[in-house]
Parts: sequence; structure tokens; C-alpha cells
Amino acid sequence: MISALLGIGLAAMLIWGMENEPKPRYYHDAGDIFGTYYNIRYEAKSSICDSIQAALKAFDNSLSMFNPHSILSAVNANRDTTTDAAFEAMWAEATRVYDLSNGAFDITVGPLVNYWGFGTKKPTPDPFLKGREVDSIREFIGFEKVALVDHKVVKQDSRVQLDAGAVAKGQACDMIAAVLARQGCENYLVDIGGEVVAHGLNDKGEPWHVGITKPNLNNEGAQEELQEILAVSDVKMATSGNYRNYYYADGERRSHTIDPRTGYPVQHSVLSATVVASTCMRADAMATACMVLGAEDAMDMIRRAEDAACYLIVAQNDSLVVIKSPNWDEKLTK
Ligand code: AMP
Ligand code: MG
Repeated sequence: MISALLGIGLAAMLIWGMENEPKPRYYHDAGDIFGTYYNIRYEAKSSICDSIQAALKAFDNSLSMFNPHSILSAVNANRDTTTDAAFEAMWAEATRVYDLSNGAFDITVGPLVNYWGFGTKKPTPDPFLKGREVDSIREFIGFEKVALVDHKVVKQDSRVQLDAGAVAKGQACDMIAAVLARQGCENYLVDIGGEVVAHGLNDKGEPWHVGITKPNLNNEGAQEELQEILAVSDVKMATSGNYRNYYYADGERRSHTIDPRTGYPVQHSVLSATVVASTCMRADAMATACMVLGAEDAMDMIRRAEDAACYLIVAQNDSLVVIKSPNWDEKLTK
């Protein structure tokens, strides 16, 4: 009798405990980091905003060009510093995509980015470089002029500057996705400046909806339209476009993607490149590389990469044409 009563009591306590356990719900964290926005949605029993903030801060201290105390800023200022895991992961991927793109993607492009007015002190070109010709700047551009030795960046020329702007947003998405996964989250969407990691389902129980922006070159200030809305449940995706960060000068349109091989802003018909890959960091670097390479060479690079697929929007006779790599649909639904 007593044991039966104890059993009932225990069961009641368990049920009471379960009822009082917080039910999972969707949370939304948003803010700014390295000159852009972030939007993070996830399903959890309680907010993990603090872990997210701590991870973003640690990342910012490593790779942000906008943070004068970051490791990257110390490297650029030739201050003695030691690299950390995030920096070294960025370096490994930058090396891989530099090779894969035959030098079209190159994180030493920084001085040219500043020269053309797209650096952190936009839009004034770096005073140190002002008046110098592009060719003289190219003397200190080139990934082969730097090495990572015993957790230190060694430069052949002290004028070499690194720019992680084409890879850091994607890398930060991977890092936040890892934080969420470690906390047991299965449903989340991490969007940092348009680079995206999506996993599981949204708060309506559907795949996440991610838009690809329609490049709009002629209608300044008009509301952004979408080229396509993708429904995704497990994807790491990045988009580079020449339609957001640009200006007109000397009768030409200059956008923030620079071809390190010529020293000039890229001028060709690819208006946007969206890449999916096995990490968002890789997708980010490769999307930028696609913009530099142009459609044909970009497709070639994607084929060689094996783990990636791309979706290019190309201007053709006043209209927009979408060119997808043959494995696009498969990689999107894998
Ligand atoms: P994204 O929006 O990812 O294409 O990154 C664009 C940013 O990458 C620019 O604002 C520059 O800071 C940097 N960048 C420009 N050209 C290159 C390049 N060829 N290789 C690597 N980074 C680049
Ligand atoms: Mg990129």
C-alpha cells in the first residue's frame, strides 16, 4: 500500500516536473557586426542570446576589419600578434579558394579595396595610397607574399594588408550554427549580411524561406525585388553581388569586388553569384571568387570544387538570365 502511494506520488511529481519544464519556442536575435546586420532565429527552451553574443564578440576580436583591436587589424598594422583558431580557419579556407580560383580570390586585396574607396574608411581612399598608381599597389598584392608560421603572419613586404570581408560573414554563420547545434537546437536560420546557414524548420513547421535578390541596376532606391525564393532545410549559402556596394566615377560603375590580377574593380556581366557549399565560409569565399571570374570560369571552378553549386544572375541584352550549375537543385535539397 505504502509503495503504491509512493509510486503514485513519484508519477505525479514527474508529470508536474514535465509540465513545468519550459516548452521550446522560436527566438530571434538581431544586431550589427562587422559593418553589417545579423538575424538569428532558433527554436530552444530558453534564450541562448548570451552564448551567441559571446561567440560574435570573440569572432569580431579575431577577424573584424572594423575593430581596431582585432587580430586582423594588428596584422595589418604590423603589430606583434598571435593568430587564433578562427583566424587560422579563415586562412586555411582563403588558401584553398585562392588555389581553386587561380588567384581571383585573394585576401591580400585589402590595399586595392581601400584605394578604390571600399575600405573601412569609405569612401575616402587610404591617404597612404592616394595618388599612387594601381600598378605600384599591385607590388604588394598577392597571397604568395604572406605565410602563416607558428601562429604568426609573416609578410614579405610590410605593406601587405589582409581583407577578410569576403569570407568572415560566412565563417561567422558557421560558428553561430555550431553554437546553436551544441545547445541542442535543430531548427535555426542564421543570416549575417545575407550569408545564410539554415537547418530544420521554421516556426510554422515549414522549410526556411531564403530569397535571392534580383539585381537592380537601373532603378536606384526602388524596393528590392526577389529573383527567387528557395525553401531550404539544410543549407550553407552565400551571395555576392555588384549591385549593393558601388559608385559611379569617370563614367564607369565601380563595385566592391576587385580583380587582384588586374588591380581594377571587376567589370563584367555577372551581377550576382549565390553559392552553396559544405560550409558557409567556403560558400562566401567562392561567391566572391565567382564574381571575379565571370560566368564561364566560375562554372569551371564550381565543377572542380565538387562540394559546391552556384546560381549566377547575368545581364544579357538588357535582361537578366539565371545560370545554374548542373548540381544546383541536388545540393539545395541534399
Ligand atoms: P563579398 O560581399 O563576400 O563578395 O565580399 C566583398 C568584399 O570582399 C569587398 O568589400 C572586399 O573587402 C573584399 N574583396 C574584394 N575583392 C576581393 C577578392 N578578389 N578576393 C577577396 N576579397 C575581395
Ligand atoms: Mg564572399
